[in-house]
Amino acid sequence: TDIILKADKIQKIFPSKEGDVRAVDGVDLELRSGEVFGLVGESGCGKSTLSRLLLKLLNSSGGTIKFKGEDITGYEKNQLKRLRRQMSLVFQDPHTSLNPRMTIYDNLARPFKIHNLANGREEITVEIVRLLKSMGLQAEHMIRYPHELSGGQKQRVVVARALAVDPEVVFLDEPTSALDVSVQAKILKLLAKIKEEKDLTYFFISHDINLIRVISDRIGVMYLGRMVEQGEVGKMFKEPLHPYTKGLFSSVPEPTPARRLDSVLMGEVPSPVNPPAGCHFHPRCPEKMAICEKESPAFEYREGRKVACHLYDLD
Ligand code: SF4
Ligand code: MG
Repeated sequence: TDIILKADKIQKIFPSKEGDVRAVDGVDLELRSGEVFGLVGESGCGKSTLSRLLLKLLNSSGGTIKFKGEDITGYEKNQLKRLRRQMSLVFQDPHTSLNPRMTIYDNLARPFKIHNLANGREEITVEIVRLLKSMGLQAEHMIRYPHELSGGQKQRVVVARALAVDPEVVFLDEPTSALDVSVQAKILKLLAKIKEEKDLTYFFISHDINLIRVISDRIGVMYLGRMVEQGEVGKMFKEPLHPYTKGLFSSVPEPTPARRLDSVLMGEVPSPVNPPAGCHFHPRCPEKMAICEKESPAFEYREGRKVACHLYDLD
C-alpha cells in the first residue's frame, strides 16, 4: 500500500501563562492510500490539533510531514493553495462551519471560485447541483440559508463543500457527533459510499469507540498529545497491547449505542501543561513499572502494530 501522508515526530507547543502546552508531543503517523484511519482519544488529547497540523492549517513546532513523499512541512502560501485541493476538512459542528448570512449556493460556490474550478454562475450552478444530489439533497436547497435546513442537511452541505475541490484525503473531525443517532447513521453510510465512488482516504476523528470500530481499517490511539498505539482495527480490538488502549476498549461493550470515551477510564486526564515525566500515562496505569516515571517509551513496531509502552521493550 502507498503511504499518502506521513508524519515524523510532529509537535505543537502553545505557550501559555502556566507554561508550555504540549498539545501534540512528537507523533508518528502513516496514512495509507484508500484507508479509513480512525483516531481515538479523550477530549483534549490533541486529536483536532494533530489533524490541523497534518492539513497545514497550523504550523508545527517540530517534526516533518510528507504528502505523497513530498516534504510539505515548510510549504508557502502558493503551495498550500494546491494542497487545499488535495486534502480537505469536515468540521465537527455544522451549525458554525457554514456562513449563516450566505445561501447554500454562496457557501458552496466559494471553493469553486477560490480554486478556479468552475467559472460563471451557470457553470458553478451545474457543479453545485451535482454536489447536492450526490449528498442526497436537491437543487432547490441551493437558494436556502443554513438556518432553513435541518442539522443533518447542513452537515451534508458541509461534506459537499469539502468534496467540491475533488480531494484525495478528507479529514472528518467528529463529523456526526452533533447529530441524532438515526441521522448520524445515514451520514456515515453516505460517507462510506462516497469514499468508494471517489476512491478517497479518510482520516476520521472521534471519541466514540464503537463508531471508530465500525468504520475504520486502522486506528490510532492518542493520549495526552502522544500516539500510544496504532494498528489494524481487528487486531487492536482482539488484543490491545497498550494499557491505555486496554482500559479504553475493555469497558466498551459489544456494539451498543454510542458511549462517551470520557466516562470509561478512571481518573482525570492530566494537563498537557507540564505533563507527567516519562510515560504520560503512568499516573493512571495499572501496570506501571519503575522505569515508566523516568523514561518515555519509544513508539515502535510490536506484534504487527506500533506501541509506546515499556512492557514491550525488547531486552
Ligand atoms: Fe504503563 Fe509503563 Fe506502559 Fe506507560 S510505559 S503504559 S506506565 S506500563
Ligand atoms: Mg476535538
